Amino acid sequence: MTLNDLQTGDTGIIQQIHGSGAFRKRITEMGFVKGQVVKVIKTTPFKGPVEYRIMSGTVSLRRSEASMIDVTFGPDPVVKDADALKPIITESTDLENGQKPGRKIRVALLGNPNCGKTSIFNRLSHSNERVGNYSGVTVGSKQAIVNFRGYEFEFTDLPGTYSLSAYSDDEIVVRQFLANHKPDIVVNVIDGGNPERHLYLTSQLVDMGIPLIVALNMYDDLQARGDKLDYLKLGELIGVPFVPTIGRHGRGKGKHRLMNRIIDVFEDREPVVRHTHINYGKELEYSINKIEQTLFKYRKELKGLHIRYFAIRALERDDFCIHKISSFEGFEDDVRPIITQEINRLELLFKDDIETLISNARYAFIAGALKETYKKGKRDKALSRTQRIDRVLTHKIWAVPIFLLIIFGMFHATFSIGQYPMNWIEAGVDWLGNSLSTLIPEGMVRDFLIDGVIGGVGGVIVFLPNILILFFIISLMENTGYMARTAFIMDRVMHLFGLHGKSFIPMVMGFGCNVPALMATRMLENRRDRLLTMMIIPFMSCSARLPVYILIAGAVFPNHAAHVIFLMYLVGILFSVVMAVVFNSTIFKKAEAPFVMELPPYRAPGMRMVLKHMWLRGAQYLKKMGGVILIASIVIWALGYFPRDVEYSKDYDTLIAAEENKLEKLDAATSQGETRQIIQSENEGQADKIRQQISMLEISRENEQQAGSYIGQLGHAIEPVISPLGFDWKMGVSLLAGFAAKEVVVSTMGVLYQVSGENTVSLQEKLGEQVYTEGEMAGMKIYHPLAAISFLLFVLLYLPCVSVIVTIGREAGSWKWSGLVVFYTTFLAWFVSFCVYQLGSLF
Ligand code: GDP
Ligand code: MG
Repeated sequence: MTLNDLQTGDTGIIQQIHGSGAFRKRITEMGFVKGQVVKVIKTTPFKGPVEYRIMSGTVSLRRSEASMIDVTFGPDPVVKDADALKPIITESTDLENGQKPGRKIRVALLGNPNCGKTSIFNRLSHSNERVGNYSGVTVGSKQAIVNFRGYEFEFTDLPGTYSLSAYSDDEIVVRQFLANHKPDIVVNVIDGGNPERHLYLTSQLVDMGIPLIVALNMYDDLQARGDKLDYLKLGELIGVPFVPTIGRHGRGKGKHRLMNRIIDVFEDREPVVRHTHINYGKELEYSINKIEQTLFKYRKELKGLHIRYFAIRALERDDFCIHKISSFEGFEDDVRPIITQEINRLELLFKDDIETLISNARYAFIAGALKETYKKGKRDKALSRTQRIDRVLTHKIWAVPIFLLIIFGMFHATFSIGQYPMNWIEAGVDWLGNSLSTLIPEGMVRDFLIDGVIGGVGGVIVFLPNILILFFIISLMENTGYMARTAFIMDRVMHLFGLHGKSFIPMVMGFGCNVPALMATRMLENRRDRLLTMMIIPFMSCSARLPVYILIAGAVFPNHAAHVIFLMYLVGILFSVVMAVVFNSTIFKKAEAPFVMELPPYRAPGMRMVLKHMWLRGAQYLKKMGGVILIASIVIWALGYFPRDVEYSKDYDTLIAAEENKLEKLDAATSQGETRQIIQSENEGQADKIRQQISMLEISRENEQQAGSYIGQLGHAIEPVISPLGFDWKMGVSLLAGFAAKEVVVSTMGVLYQVSGENTVSLQEKLGEQVYTEGEMAGMKIYHPLAAISFLLFVLLYLPCVSVIVTIGREAGSWKWSGLVVFYTTFLAWFVSFCVYQLGSLF
C-alpha cells in the first residue's frame, strides 16, 4: 500500500521510500522516514498535490510522489528498538583549538526555510531584510555589522536549507558560504514548534564540528501550545548551547542573551560546549572509522576541517565532498575503493540505500534526545486555526475562485483606494506648477522646470499611493502564509502547462517587481523550471506598469478602469502560460521535479514589518523618481525643446498678434461707456472666442515646434512601425523611453503633453482630449478605446526594463537568455497589438 491509497483523515506508518536518490533524500529531510506516522490532511482541486502532516509540520506532495512511499495503516507507531533510540554521545578528542582572529566575530545564521532566521537577523542588526511566511524568501546572503560589548559582530543571513546536501541553488549558496568563509560561530535557528525535523540540520552541523549555538526560535508559539522542551538538558546532551528566541518581537533581553552567548562560545567560556559525535550505530560507525583512517593522511589538505565529517559525507555519496577530496593525490587508489566497498557492505547488510541508512540513524538520534527532553502540549491552537482557515482557502472547489477574488480585490483596492491620495498629490503638483509659472519669467528656465521636471516627475509621483497599497497587500499575502498556499493550489494547473507549482510564487511576486521575483526562482530545484519561470516572469505586470495602466485606463475607460486593469493582469498571466507551453515544446526538455513543499501555519503578519517594507518600497520609488525618471524626463524635454528654429506652416506670430489686436479693440469698445447690458455680454462672448482662438494658435504652434524637434523627428521615423498598432508618434516615443524603466512611459507622456495644454488639466484629462490634427484621421480621438487597449497590451508585453534584463542575464548565467527575452517579448507585443488593432478596426 502506498501513501496515495490513504484517504483524507487516515494515518499511516511509513515503511519504505522508492524513487530517485535525490527525491528520497529531499523527502527524508522533510521528515518522511521509516516508522514515522503520517496523516492525510487534505487534497487539492483537480487531483493536485495532497497535504500531509508529518512530525510537527505540514508538507504537500504530488500524488505521483506519494505513490512512491509505502505505508501501512495504523494509528500505533511501530515500537523502535529501544537501544537505537538512546543518544550515545562520545567526547571527541580531535577538537581543533585554533586561534581566534581578534575581536571580530563572524556569525552565520543557518536553519531550515521559514524558521525565522531573517527575523532574528533583522532584530540583531536593525536591518530590514525581507521576511515572509514561506520558504525561499531570502535569496543570496546578506551581511550586517553590529558592535556590542567591545566586539564587532558580522552577521550573515543565509537562505534556508533543510540539510547540507546541495540540491537547489539556495543550498549551494549555504554550503559554499560555510566552506569559503568559515564563520567563527554558526547560529542554527530552529523552529521550536517542530524540533524533530529542524534538529536534522543541527545533527549535521554537530558532525561538521563547527562552533555552534542553537537559537530556539518561535519560543512564543512553543509556550502558547503548552509544549515542554527542556532545552538546557537537550543542549547539554549534544554539547551545544540553546537560547530561546522570539524573532518577531525579540527585543532587549532575548537578543542580548543570544549575543552574550555568542561571545561566551567565541571566547571558549561556555560550559555547555563540548565536542560531541553523533553515534550512527555499530555498523555505520565501523565504516565511518575505516574511511576516517584512510583520510587521515590528507589532514593537511583538509586544512583543519573535520575528518570524521568528510568520512560521513563520503559515505553518504555526497558529490560536493567527494569532488573535494577526489583531487587529493592517491585518492583514486587508496580512498575511493574503500568508500565503495563500505557502501556496498552496508547496503547489502541492511538492504537499504546508504543515504536512507544514515538519515534514519540521524533521526533515531534526534528521537532519542527528544524523548528525554520534549513533551508535546495538548492544545495546538495554531494548528487547529490553520486547519480551519485552510478548510476555506484551499478548498477543493473554491480555492481557485477565492484566489482570483483576492487578486481582484487587490487591484481594486490599489485603484480605488489609491484614487483619493492620488488626487491630493495631483493637486499639489498642479499648485507647484502654477506657482512656479507665476514666479518665474517666461523663457527656457520656466519651460525646463514646468514642462521637463514637473511634467515628467510630477506625472509619475502621483502613483505613489497605488504602489504602496499594492506592496502592502503582497506583503500581507507573504507574511500570513497564503503565498505558500497559492503554489499548492496551483500546482496541478501549472503542471498542465509544464510549469512547477512553486513557479507560481515568483510569478505573484512579479506583480510587485520582476527583479526580486527573478531572484526568488532560486527556490526551484530544477534548472529547467528556473529558466522557464524566468522567461515568463516579465509578463507579470510589475508595479512600474501600474501607472501606465491607471493613466490610460482612467483616461479612456473612466467608469471601468479597475476592470480594465484587472484584465491586463489576467492577460499577462495568460500569456505567461501560453509562452510556457511554447517554450516547453521547443527549447526546454521536460524534466520532473518533485513538489515537496512545506505549508507553514498561518501567522498574523508582523504589522511593523509589513508597514516598514511598504515604506521602504515607497522610498525606493521616490529614489527612482529622483534618478532615472528625472534624467529621462530632462532628456525627453531637451529633445523636444530643440531645435527652436522649426519652420512653421503658418506665420503664427502675425496671426496671434492680429487676434490680440482685435481683443484690445474690443476691450477699448467695452470700456468706452457702452453701458447697455446686452452689448456688454455680447462683447464678452466675442472676447472669449478670440481668447480661445489665440490659445488654439499657440497650441498648434507648440505642436508644430514639437513635431519638428529632435524627438518629433525620431517619432516620425518610427511611425511606420507603430501606426499599424494605432499609436501616434508621442505614444511611440514614450514606449521607446520606457526601456529605462516602465514608469518613464508615463513621465515621457507627462513631458510631451505638458507643453501643449493648460497646466491646470491633469495628464489623464489631457490624454482624453488629444485628437489627430492632420491626415485621414484628423479630428478623431487619439486615445480611443481600441488604440488604448492595443497600447496597454503593448506595454504589458514588450521588452522588460533594464534591471530585469540584467537580472535575467546574471541569474541564468548567460546573456543569451536576456537577449532572447528582449527579442521575443517585443516581437510578441508588436504582433499582439497589431492583431488586436487591425481586427478591431474591421468592426
Ligand atoms: P526565514 O525564512 O528563516 O528567514 O524566516 P523569516 O524570518 O522570513 O520568518 C518566517 C515567518 O515566521 C515570518 O512570518 C515571521 O513573522 C515568523 N516568525 C519569525 N520569528 C518568529 C517567532 O519567534 N515567533 C512567531 N510566532 N513567529 C515568528
Ligand atoms: Mg529568510
